[in-house]
Amino acid sequence: MKINKTILVTGGAGFIGSAMVRHLIDRTNSTVINVDKLTYSGNLQSLESVKNNKNYFFENVDICNFNDLDRVFNVYQPDVIVHLAAESHVDRSIDSPVEFIQTNVIGTFNLLESAKGYWEELKGHKKENFRFLHVSTDEVYGDLEGTNDFFTEISPYDPSSPYSASKASSDHLVRAWFRTFGLPAIITNCSNNYGPCQFPEKLIPHIILSALKGEKLPIYGDGKQIRDWLYVDDHVRALIEVLLKGNPGETYNIGGNNEIRNIDVVKKICTILDSKIPNKLNGLNSFSDLISFVKDRPGHDVRYAIDASKIEKEIKWTPKEGFDSGIKKTISWYLNNKEWCRNVQNGNYKFIRQGEI
Ligand code: NAD
Repeated sequence: MKINKTILVTGGAGFIGSAMVRHLIDRTNSTVINVDKLTYSGNLQSLESVKNNKNYFFENVDICNFNDLDRVFNVYQPDVIVHLAAESHVDRSIDSPVEFIQTNVIGTFNLLESAKGYWEELKGHKKENFRFLHVSTDEVYGDLEGTNDFFTEISPYDPSSPYSASKASSDHLVRAWFRTFGLPAIITNCSNNYGPCQFPEKLIPHIILSALKGEKLPIYGDGKQIRDWLYVDDHVRALIEVLLKGNPGETYNIGGNNEIRNIDVVKKICTILDSKIPNKLNGLNSFSDLISFVKDRPGHDVRYAIDASKIEKEIKWTPKEGFDSGIKKTISWYLNNKEWCRNVQNGNYKFIRQGEI
């Protein structure tokens, strides 16, 4: 792809951020500055393949620190910002909401303020083409339980968890900085991502790694919650297309057209693992024998579904990966990257899932 920009990515050591950084370094001529605090979910091992590239720079910075952000803007003079840094796990937000307010709300406010100060001083094309891309979630729209509706860009905000409420707050701030100050910001709201390098507290890697250890596969409630799943590289392509073609002040919903019940996701993973691993631990017949239903997460949304027709029509983006092929690729990645998996399960990393603590 012909992109030759200086791109500041926040949260570039996380799951989606690292996929974005790898894509930009491997497939474009861009310079990438990765601004990441390295919380429990930030992992520089996901960036091993790019760490020595001359176009890649890492800044171990907390987005809540205004002075550090100011320095980064002054040193690197970015053309665009892709804001992915966040606390991102709903279960953690139930146990300890404070970090979510701090990073997702105060951190986004800081980033908007330092980006605004920097952008106001820019001149000519650099000012015209500057973009602040805020990456958000479909969870801000709440729950579609009992309807056949889809979330559109004008669906009302109705967040259920401290996580989605903090993301909704950050979306409102971004919108206000566009309306009030003219900062050329764009918001994307995406459905559930899956793929390589996802921290294993999230459903898909949690199920894969627990199954490999012969541990129980916990499913919340009856497992009938429906999510729309998007392969992470499709999300990254969508974000880059929105950066290049999206209009400031607009919101774009991003989805995979893959609505699947959680229980069916887990059964699919078990079937694929059964075919790949005939000799299982402890004489297990099928990995699905490890499925165990646990008490539901409080406030658990039942159904999310995205209407992605706006991005499809206006930006000409569609997902490339179907769920069947994407989940096989994802499982193969976890099977082939045992060291990455071992390291994230050691030391500081603590799995947090409701119903298990
Ligand atoms: P992640 O938890 O894997 O990564 C978050 C990254 O942000 C980590 O590298 C972490 O170290 C960094 N970070 C956290 N607090 C920081 C701070 N104060 N300063 C600097 N860096 C900080 O998350 P993810 O799944 O990659 O999600 C990235 C973004 O995409 C989030 O904003 C999330 O809301 C959004 N999103 C995620 C999904 C999904 O399914 N994963 C779906 C839609 C939207």
